[in-house]
Amino acid sequence: MKPAPFDYHRATSLVEACGLLAEGDDEAERKVIAGGQTLTPLMAMRLAQPALLIDINRLEDLAGINEVDGVLTIGAMTRQRAAERSSLVGERLPLLAKALFHVGHVQTRNRGTVGGSIAHGDPSAEIPLVAVVAGARLRLAAAGGSREVAGEAFFQGPMTTAIEADEILTAVDFPLPAAGDRLGAAFHEVALRHGDFALVSAAAQVALDSDGRCLEARVGVGGCAMTPLRLGDVEAVLQGTALETADISAAIETVADAIDPEDWPGASAEYRRRVAPELVRRAVVEAGREAAA
Ligand SMILES: Cc1cc2nc3c(=O)[nH]c(=O)nc-3n(C[C@H](O)[C@H](O)[C@H](O)COP(=O)(O)OP(=O)(O)OC[C@H]3O[C@@H](n4cnc5c(N)ncnc54)[C@H](O)[C@@H]3O)c2cc1C
Repeated sequence: MKPAPFDYHRATSLVEACGLLAEGDDEAERKVIAGGQTLTPLMAMRLAQPALLIDINRLEDLAGINEVDGVLTIGAMTRQRAAERSSLVGERLPLLAKALFHVGHVQTRNRGTVGGSIAHGDPSAEIPLVAVVAGARLRLAAAGGSREVAGEAFFQGPMTTAIEADEILTAVDFPLPAAGDRLGAAFHEVALRHGDFALVSAAAQVALDSDGRCLEARVGVGGCAMTPLRLGDVEAVLQGTALETADISAAIETVADAIDPEDWPGASAEYRRRVAPELVRRAVVEAGREAAA
């Protein structure tokens, strides 16, 4: 199919883009286009029919990766591939680099943006899961001002986020573990083929103290609820342990109560229930080993 007719405007500043969004209404929806890897197919299938597309690809201020005062900031327009290949991300937030490897294909990551994936809010998507697990904060801008939203409050349901119709996601702030921490991270998923959306995914980031005890565990699953889920009970059981097999098994027992999967195309709820605890186990074991190495 071909998209419904639409107007196109290439924005030259964030102020201009926000101003154009603010003029939209329910009958003539306005949307920003970033990498176009999700929006373009949706428009081609006429599942999205914006009256005006506001192209934010020329807004260079929205792209880039920086670390300041223990916070890694990734501009919304940073290409997924640029984040995947960034040495700063690899060293300071390896969980994101590992997750990005699973996002689509190199070709889609060359165009797709970090912010576009978060703004779209697919509950099976890898970048939103990392945002929730790592405790990211999302920066939003509108003509009337800007605000920040915590990752767990940002994702509200399948393809539903805290972004209002007149807002643009400008950057993602990831708080980083202290530089001295022994850090490990792992991301595991099951998909029908590499590059497909995950049926179930698991993310773990572990920091150990000098005695090899778990200072902090951050753990979550994707594809097991209406939003990416952080597994607070798993984290609480792991905290302070030496991440022995028995510690991890005790933590994994809490997964069943935390998840609420549904029958979705590709896998039943029952399948997801069986796979999720095992993926979480693998992610925690691998992250623990990496931190201890
Ligand atoms: C073949 C293929 C395989 C894929 N596999 C995966 C996969 O395995 N995992 C995965 O997570 N994704 C996958 N994707 C999707 C891909 O990651 C997209 O890049 C991503 O979902 C959207 O990013 P984008 O920059 O392309 O956004 P766009 O397609 O441009 O926009 C997506 C939506 O977000 C909005 N938006 C974009 N940027 C902003 C912003 N800064 N502020 C406010 N709203 C914004 C748009 O208005 C639109 O509604 C796949 C895509 C393809 C084509």
